[in-house]
Amino acid sequence: MPTILTHAAVPLTIGLGLGRDVIPGRLLAAGVVAALLPDLDVLAFHAGIPYGAAFGHRGFSHSLFFAAVIALLGAGGFRVLRARFVTAFLFLFVAAASHGVLDAFTNGGLGIAFFWPWSADRYFAPVPVIEAAPLSVARFFSARGWAVLQSEMGWVWLPGILVSAALAGYQVCLARAALKGPVDPGAGDPLNPRYAKQHTTL
Ligand SMILES: [Zn+2]
Repeated sequence: MPTILTHAAVPLTIGLGLGRDVIPGRLLAAGVVAALLPDLDVLAFHAGIPYGAAFGHRGFSHSLFFAAVIALLGAGGFRVLRARFVTAFLFLFVAAASHGVLDAFTNGGLGIAFFWPWSADRYFAPVPVIEAAPLSVARFFSARGWAVLQSEMGWVWLPGILVSAALAGYQVCLARAALKGPVDPGAGDPLNPRYAKQHTTL
């Protein structure tokens, strides 16, 4: 898995990029929780459930079905989240589903059961470029931990900052266009009957 902080990168970069008017602070916080939730399945190790089982690590909780359930439950509280139901559902779904997608890009562990409950098959991305983070905290504070952080910075945070900046730029353009009002393509054209009428009545 990437580190916990890096799983928060997807909702954070999308939410901050779109701005508070689209993704209010409460929905953003819920998105971060949705992105971290799937790794609660590490409890399966303590319960003696094997890694490769449907209820093992990277199993059911990393599936698209689980992401949809989390999004539906979370979006049910859309009034508390101060967002529209559809916005809350889509944002929470992308946040929760992004967890499995990021995991699939790591070069360690087993693949992701994206299509549970329909299929227990595990999948990796075609190019697993992110260094897998050690599951133990002690091993994280080592040279290996540093390599993991560098890899996550390059493959997740840097593209995330670029996406965030692009979304923020798009929002600014939309706001400016709204301020200017609708563009009249015929304005100033003497052959446009509406323009001609305005000027003949003067
Ligand atoms: Zn995970």
